[in-house]
Amino acid sequence: MKHVDLHLHLDGAVTVAIARKLAKLQGITLPENDQELERLLTVPEDCESLTDFLKCFALPLSLMQTREGLSEAVRLVVNDLQSQGVIYAEIRFAPQLHLEQGMTQEEAIRAALEGIKKAGECIDHAAEGNMAAQIKVNLILCAMRGDGNESANEETLRLAKKWLVADGGVVAMDLAGAEALFPTGKYRELFAKAKELKIPFTIHAGEADGAESVKLALEFGANRIGHGVRSQEDPQVLQLLKENQIPLEMCPTSNRQTHAVEDMSRYPFMDYLQHGLKVTLNTDDPGIEGTTMEAEYRYMEQRFGLDEDGKRTLLQNAVDAAFTTEEVKNWMRMELGLR
Ligand SMILES: [Zn+2]
Repeated sequence: MKHVDLHLHLDGAVTVAIARKLAKLQGITLPENDQELERLLTVPEDCESLTDFLKCFALPLSLMQTREGLSEAVRLVVNDLQSQGVIYAEIRFAPQLHLEQGMTQEEAIRAALEGIKKAGECIDHAAEGNMAAQIKVNLILCAMRGDGNESANEETLRLAKKWLVADGGVVAMDLAGAEALFPTGKYRELFAKAKELKIPFTIHAGEADGAESVKLALEFGANRIGHGVRSQEDPQVLQLLKENQIPLEMCPTSNRQTHAVEDMSRYPFMDYLQHGLKVTLNTDDPGIEGTTMEAEYRYMEQRFGLDEDGKRTLLQNAVDAAFTTEEVKNWMRMELGLR
């Protein structure tokens, strides 16, 4: 099956194999034992919350503090996605988390773009022998929830505007990080500016915080919502999502691991889908969670009875929701057999 992944964090997509390659390239020492490395990179069984979950990102981020490390990480992640049947992906990352060794945010963005370009060259080369399908990749720049990083977020906004394209580069902004600690309301001004500058954006909301967070993101003018799991806590928010057909980027494995819902038997994914909300299915952090798009579909089929019609709707929703041009969307529809 071919896939579209709209919600995937670069630092969450670093697998053990990718981590080894990045470390070798930069002369960084990692634990020699694969199991030990896996323990550092993946979510522990007893992970209690999103705040806990976010601790897993320290190691992958430490491997992406140079231009070559970051660019190679993007290239390797794109290669992995392509080998897993993903034909279109939006990779998100926060430039401000890559400055520990002197890169600027703009250099980090350039490095990520270079990684996409290099992956494309490899893929074109492979495609000559009909070995591989094409993959198109865009970037979403994350502002981060936190204290004291207001100017870093402003800089991300400025660069998002500067580098914004309709396809083939930076296509949108996001707000990521600890939602329960730094509530969405704190970011009203930042996204008012994004809206004024016509930068499309999505906001992680209704994941670790309640429906109120989703309501605020909608008020700010978010084009999509990251997760939105807890929207069900307020029928009015569900109504707003439905009326405005705002896509939800849902990620079941991640939602289970971060306890966005305490009891997965009450996971609202299928309810949202059946009530006509614009639900999409995504991985969030394939490396850290040990998942793929294929695995997410299998999980939804086996645990929640997702059928062929449901799958088709999810794919259609993903294409509609993508931050790209009509031309690329039409190409995706052809590739996915939606027309
Ligand atoms: Zn996310």
